[in-house]
Amino acid sequence: MKLYAPSTIKEIKERYGFKISKSLGQNFLTDKNIIDRIIDATEIGENDLVLEIGPGLGVLTYEAAQLAGKVLAVEIDENLIPILKENLAEFDNVEIVNQDFLKTNLFELLEQNEEINGQKREGVKILGNLPYYITTPIIMKILEDRAPVDSITIMMQKEVADRIKSEPGGKTYGALSVAVQYYCEVVDVAKVPRDVFYPQPNVDSAVLRLDLRKERPVELDDESVFFACVKSGFGQRRKTLHNSLSGVCGLSKEQVSEALEEAGIDPVRRAETLDLKEFARLANAVNKRK
Ligand code: SAM
Repeated sequence: MKLYAPSTIKEIKERYGFKISKSLGQNFLTDKNIIDRIIDATEIGENDLVLEIGPGLGVLTYEAAQLAGKVLAVEIDENLIPILKENLAEFDNVEIVNQDFLKTNLFELLEQNEEINGQKREGVKILGNLPYYITTPIIMKILEDRAPVDSITIMMQKEVADRIKSEPGGKTYGALSVAVQYYCEVVDVAKVPRDVFYPQPNVDSAVLRLDLRKERPVELDDESVFFACVKSGFGQRRKTLHNSLSGVCGLSKEQVSEALEEAGIDPVRRAETLDLKEFARLANAVNKRK
């Protein structure tokens, strides 16, 4: 049975009386090529743990289960649980967890799955076709929790992917770009048109793989000061740094000027022109004065 075929989705809807929920961002994938590209990009090893966010009807889960040591599939919609159980019945390495991913204790979940079939697991790969409205909180939860994860391969709205991979100077470069690039190396996987989903969303999508860095790309004396500078700088992105940073970490305008000078950054530049290294130099100079 082709789980991803629109005719199968319609049949499942009828048989279970299942109603597709717009508010839970339910747009199911119907294209095997895209499914394969997501799975290939995830680079699943036979002793890896795959954590899938929002399995839906199980199209990605089905493919991942054939490659992984174990798949943990976290789905919020309880109406999908019996459907997932039936669609994935042939696998004994799939565990379905009926939970809101944003409320899961990621450390606990990963700790409970340190062993797969009596052997220490190798990688931890996260994957998902995410509901658009919670893409950013989901990514930031994984990164800020500093969970022991190797990579996150995810489908998201194209505009969010553009923001994540954006370089300094671009219109889409912002706090999200800096934060994700600080924690991860970003790999472009695929552009995805809207017509490969049922029902069809109003936007195009893209798949990115975020490879979590083993070492930070810049030296920071205090990470929270770095993020405070990023937030402050982009909070008023049209203003020059001299103005937008005013008050950051309690610094006076004069102290901000001194910090910018020490970091070798022209005070009339804007946050959108600063790369990671410059933000780091600035943060370390601010940290000295706070
Ligand atoms: N993976 C399936 C596919 O590709 O066809 C479904 C993708 S659909 C875009 C998003 C899925 O995430 C839905 O099944 C939805 O119920 C689920 N979901 C929404 N919010 C969630 C949350 N907070 N935690 C876990 N799953 C969630």
